[in-house]
Amino acid sequence: MKLCSACLLGVKCRYDGQSKPNEKILELARRETLIPVCPEQLGGQPTPRPDAEIRGGDGKAVLNGTAKVVESSSRDVTAEFIAGAEEVLKLAKLFGATEVISKQKSPSCGCGQIYDGTFSKKMITGDGVTAALLKENGLTVISDEQL
Ligand code: SF4
Repeated sequence: MKLCSACLLGVKCRYDGQSKPNEKILELARRETLIPVCPEQLGGQPTPRPDAEIRGGDGKAVLNGTAKVVESSSRDVTAEFIAGAEEVLKLAKLFGATEVISKQKSPSCGCGQIYDGTFSKKMITGDGVTAALLKENGLTVISDEQL
């Protein structure tokens, strides 16, 4: 049983109200159960919503309180991102999921690469908030770009 970033399955849950369907993942979903999750929606945020990035570190740093998630206006949405990550972890435990397919570069789902918090398309090494929390709890997280 795997969880999957909902936008990769064609769900229009992205900040811009669009999806990011991935043909390989859609094909996989025809053969096995992928449970769609969008941590940003599960954390109570609207769709569409302002773009957000992690400032001051990565998802792990957000979880330990040394970085925050902000919109380009600098509005702090850290609490919503952590709430969404916790909801996804709850679902992972409920369904006994051990693996997650996660959308690369997202401040929630990003796995290995995220934007640097300057809203200038620069990348840094690190995980999004949800990917970091799931890894901390023993799940295997792979990005759509690793499939
Ligand atoms: Fe996709 Fe994750 Fe962003 Fe939701 S939070 S739109 S599932 S990348």
